[in-house]
Formats: sequence, C-alpha cells, structure tokens
Amino acid sequence: MTLLTAAYTARVPRFRLGIRQKVLLVLLIVLLTALGVSGWLALHEEKANLLKEIDQRGSYIGRFVAKSMAFSVVGYDYHTIQLLLDELTSSDEIDYAKVTNVKGNTMGESGFAGWRTGVEQVASQGLMMFTNNIQIDNETVGTLHLGFSTTHIMKHMENQKFTLLKREALVILLIALGEFLALSYIIVRPVGKITDYLRSNVDDSGKLVGNIPLVSNDEFGQLAHQFNALSKQLNEANDKLHSKIESADKRLLKANQQLKQLNNEFKLLSITDPLTGLFNRRHFDELMEAEVGLSNRHGNPNSILLIDIDSFKAINDTYGHYVGDLVLKSIARTLQKNLRHTDAICRIGGEEFAVLCKRTDKPGAMETAEKLRAAVETTLLVPETDSELTITISIGVASIPYQAKNTTPEQLYKDVDTAMYYSKNNGRNRITHITDLHQEDSTTELTNRMNKEG
Ligand code: GH3
Ligand code: MG
Ligand code: MG
Repeated sequence: MTLLTAAYTARVPRFRLGIRQKVLLVLLIVLLTALGVSGWLALHEEKANLLKEIDQRGSYIGRFVAKSMAFSVVGYDYHTIQLLLDELTSSDEIDYAKVTNVKGNTMGESGFAGWRTGVEQVASQGLMMFTNNIQIDNETVGTLHLGFSTTHIMKHMENQKFTLLKREALVILLIALGEFLALSYIIVRPVGKITDYLRSNVDDSGKLVGNIPLVSNDEFGQLAHQFNALSKQLNEANDKLHSKIESADKRLLKANQQLKQLNNEFKLLSITDPLTGLFNRRHFDELMEAEVGLSNRHGNPNSILLIDIDSFKAINDTYGHYVGDLVLKSIARTLQKNLRHTDAICRIGGEEFAVLCKRTDKPGAMETAEKLRAAVETTLLVPETDSELTITISIGVASIPYQAKNTTPEQLYKDVDTAMYYSKNNGRNRITHITDLHQEDSTTELTNRMNKEG
C-alpha cells in the first residue's frame, strides 16, 4: 500500500456517518420539528374557528329566544318559560338555560347549574355562556342566560388532531424523500465519485492516475476540473523531480567510482617506490606481516630474498648519481623480469631489494636467487675510458616455517639480513641461506668444543 492510500484510509474510521445518513438525519429532525409546529398552529386555528362559529350561533340563538320569550316574561308565565328552557337544554348544543326578571330573580332554569354569574366562558366546565336582554319596545323586562356546550368541540378537535397529523406526516415524508433524493443526486453522488476516485486511483508510486470522471457545470464540476489540472501539474513536477533525482544519483555514482579509483591510485602510490616502480618498504612490511602469519597458522612455506648491489657506491662515485639511478632502475627491471608473478619484489633501501617468494621452500628460493644473481651479473666497458664496470649482487635467503616453531617478521628479517651480510663478507656476488649459516655455525661451534675438549 502506498503512503497516500495509507494516509487516506487511516482517516476513515470503521463506523462513520456518511453524507447521506447525515442529510437524512438533519432532514428528519427539521421536518419533525416543522410537523409539530405546523400541526399545533393548524389545530389552534381550527379551534379558534369553531369557537368563533359557536359565538356567532350563540348570539343568534340568544337573540331569537330572548325575543320569543318576551311576552311570557312580562306575563309571568313561568310554565311556558320553563317549557321553553327545557326544550333548549334538551338539544346537544345547549347545556344550560336560565331566565331572570329585571330585579335579577330567577323565573326559570334548566340544565347544568354549576356556572357562576359574570363568567362568560367556563372552559373547565365545557360551557360557553351567552347573556341576552329580553326586551319589549326597547324596554328590558328580563335576562336570558344560555350555556353552550364546548365538549363536542373538544371531541371534534381530538378527531381532527389525528387526521391532521396523518395528513401532514404524509406530506412531510414526501417532501423529505424528495429533498433527500435531490440532495443525493446533487451533492452526495459527485462527492462519492470524487471519494471513490481518490481511494482507488493511486498507483504503486503514490501518484494519482487518470482524471475524476465528473463533468458538470456546478461547483463540484469545477472542483473536479481544478483537481484534475492540479493533479496533472503535480504528477509532472513529480516526474521531473524523479528524473532529477535519477541523474543526481548517476552523477553521485560516477563521482563515487572516480573517488574509488583515486583512492586505489593513492593506495598504489603509497606502496610504490617512485624511482623503480617496485613496491616500497611499507608494502614489504605489510606483506611480511601477512605471510608470516599465514605460514605460522597453516604451515605453508614462504621464502625471503634480501638483495644488495655490490660496491654500488663506486658506481655513483665514478659516473655520478644520475648513472647510479639508471643502473638501479635497470637492475630493478632485470630482477622483476626473472621472477614469477606470485613473487613480490620491493625496493626496501637505497640499493637494497627484498623478494617475497610465496609458497616457496628453501630449494625453490635458492634456485630463484641463483637465477637473479646470474641475470644481474655483467661486466661493462665504460665508454671513453679503459676501465671495466662489473655489476653484481649479494643475496641472503631465509625460508619459513622453521621446524616446529613459530617466527615473527622481525626475526625473519634479521635472519635474512644476517645471511646477506654473510654473502657480503664472504666475497660478494654469492648467495647464502640462513640455515646453511646456522649449520656452519653449529659445525664451527662443535669443532671448537672438540678442540677444547681434545
Ligand atoms: P657493498 O658492496 O658493501 O654493499 O658496498 P656499497 O658501496 O654498495 O655499499 P654502501 O652502503 O657503502 O653504499 C651504498 C650506496 O648506494 C651509497 C649511496 O650513495 C648509494 N645510493 C643509495 N640510494 C641511492 C639512490 O637512490 N640513487 C643512487 N644513485 N645512489 C644511491
Ligand atoms: Mg647496502
Ligand atoms: Mg651495496
């Protein structure tokens, strides 16, 4: 998974409310509130209308009955008054009826008597009171009190409430569904498209591939268009950056190779003798350290040859330092030519050379030494003089491992040096192996001891 997709999916919680769910939730809350408020307002209005209707009807009936009772009141016809009042209260509409004379004395009463004078509407008792003056020729002769029942209004209201609620709920649900579908199409669908694209169009290198497939003239269409353009720019910049990184990598690799090469050259220079091109003393010491260690561990044979040019000072003194140098280089070449490629030759001093013959025992080393001695040995006729110049070398040889004992590079060098000086001191232009020298020493020692004892 790439970084981009990882970061994207990391931001998506396991349970989440999508835009659709959120829109639906908000719509339901808003519409339920609207349903409650509009239902309450509608019922309130209905109730007000009904009460207004009762009011108009009550006033009309009151006036009509008061007019028709006028002569009965003037004539103190209590019986007719009572009959009329009973007739009125026998209807569902009127629960209470009463007639009083001008002095306020009751002339007849019918129905529920729980009302109190002066209270026009006794809602708690389900009554709405109407009072009308009973007049003859504009002269008041009594008062008619009628109590209209509001109970049936309440019952009606109760029925109305459910019908209204059902109707409004249906309308509101239809509106909610319509709005939800519209919002889904206008908002959720394009957002879904963008989200799906971002989730599934990221390649292995973390680059967004392709375009958001959304074409519309609204803000989402513009957003998709701008995003596609931005994504294209980003990918181009990314490609440029990658190619720059690649070329920088190549340059770095090349520089690294050059550095390695330089390093190798420096290393070679540090172990090379500038005059002859052979290895120098430092490398000889390193080789000795390594090879003596290997011989001590595994017992493989190694031999060292120490070579010194005989009477070299005379060459310098006679022909000058420059010729001396030429002779040095010529001898170095001769020595190198007569060695195997596994042998390492080093110039370890002014006119001294050392050869490390790997995996070579004493007979092999002596053979090589003789080959070198013979190759160098020459007698030159010096031009413009009658003199002759003889060039020879003296060689000391030592081989390891010594029997049943480990040795050190220092000891080995000391031995080969002793062997070489033995050659010098015994006529030059010769070869001495250190073990021959030891044998000679032992023989001399034995002879001396025997002489003494004899
Ligand atoms: P021996 O046979 O005892 O070795 O005698 P030798 O003259 O070779 O030995 P000695 O040690 O007396 O002299 C070595 C000379 O080598 C002394 C020095 O001038 C010369 N020499 C050392 N290094 C160089 C060099 O790099 N170039 C030249 N031309 N001469 C050198
Ligand atoms: Mg010397
Ligand atoms: Mg010498």
